[in-house]
Amino acid sequence: MTPIDPRSVVAAKRDGHEVDPAQLRAFIGGFASGEIGIEIVAAFLMAVYLRGMSAKETTALTEALVASGRTITFEHVSHPTVDKHSTGGVGDGVTLVLAPLVASLGLAVAKISGRGLGHTGGTIDKLESIPGVRTDLDPDAIEEQVERVGCAIARQGPGVVPADGALYALRDATATVESTPLIASSVMAKKLAVRTDLVLLDVKAGSGAFMRSVDEASALAQRCVEIGRRAQRRVHATVTDMSQPLGSAIGNALEVAEAVAVLTGGERSRLRELVVGFAADAAMTLLDVDSMTAMRLAETALDDGTAAERFRAMVIAQGGDGRVVDDPWGILPRAPVVVGVPSGRQGSLTSVDAAALGRASARLGAGRVRADDEIDPSVGIVFGVRIGDRLERESPVATVHARDATAAEEACRAVVAAIEVSDDAAEPPPLVHARYD
Ligand code: URA
Repeated sequence: MTPIDPRSVVAAKRDGHEVDPAQLRAFIGGFASGEIGIEIVAAFLMAVYLRGMSAKETTALTEALVASGRTITFEHVSHPTVDKHSTGGVGDGVTLVLAPLVASLGLAVAKISGRGLGHTGGTIDKLESIPGVRTDLDPDAIEEQVERVGCAIARQGPGVVPADGALYALRDATATVESTPLIASSVMAKKLAVRTDLVLLDVKAGSGAFMRSVDEASALAQRCVEIGRRAQRRVHATVTDMSQPLGSAIGNALEVAEAVAVLTGGERSRLRELVVGFAADAAMTLLDVDSMTAMRLAETALDDGTAAERFRAMVIAQGGDGRVVDDPWGILPRAPVVVGVPSGRQGSLTSVDAAALGRASARLGAGRVRADDEIDPSVGIVFGVRIGDRLERESPVATVHARDATAAEEACRAVVAAIEVSDDAAEPPPLVHARYD
């Protein structure tokens, strides 16, 4: 690797110059190997946060992150492969439904997911609320399961993109998380390290997302697609609404139960609509069918139980109890205290602070404030209203599932504080804002 003076990389970025890709790779390589100390990397992160990065630099950073660990290639998988990633939201159970649905269409889905941190939930925590489910699959086990069952959802292990974990922790500690090139490289490094034929990116925009505005989310989506293009990978990025929770459930077992309701065809919702759109995109791209046929295939697999059976097969393959498909609440842990929350006001629901709902659910025990916190799979919030809904004073807006009455009371107050109700009618936001590929 090129020997560098790390201070020159920081100084170049500080002064707004483009850093040479080889120097950037050496800088991140030095961080990954421990040769470059965190104080200089912290300064680098702040310089990037303030000055930004070109597409060329962002790609070099992404490649350096990928090079810090091993890649998964799917050489032994006989079906076209799909990966999916969300930039993080509230009530976002897309992966739990999409992975088995896409597998039921004849594609293979390999999903390496994270745990929840802060106000956003994590797919791994959700899946692990099903008793017995294991997510610590090594790359060979993932590949074997993907070939046999069609899908696997595994926890990010230490071998894949280790430098991203270390860099993310440093970003968290230095207030540099919300930077488009840093988020894009972090997301795309994890996607480039897993070599699938198609990457579906769900870039969230709104009060429950990292990117609050559609413009910021669109810039992130475009940057991710550009990194994919430079790495010769097919990436479709969709900017979707996160101005309110996507599904109704916010919490681990609650989100699994909601996913099962969508998988068994019983629920018509924004969650179903978004999942069907992603699955149809995968089918059009990799199975060469037209858009009408792709939509019909996806809708049918939900309505006739095929997707639900794939979910059952995946849960059993990962050590869990497959009866979760037939009787979710016979299997999933339930919270002892369940309390309804009335709106207390009359009018139209005009806005929702989705991050505040996510934080309230995390405080109930569904999420982590710190990375090593234990979570309680049973607790959370079911938020049953949508922007544009007409509310009466006694209308129930949510149900809080808590460990005790004190925690429930605090969450009820947080739900009421997270919504705005006005006399003026409000338009429901579009579910999909933009698509880039
Ligand atoms: N998701 C990621 O994987 N990385 C980020 O930096 C932000 C969201």
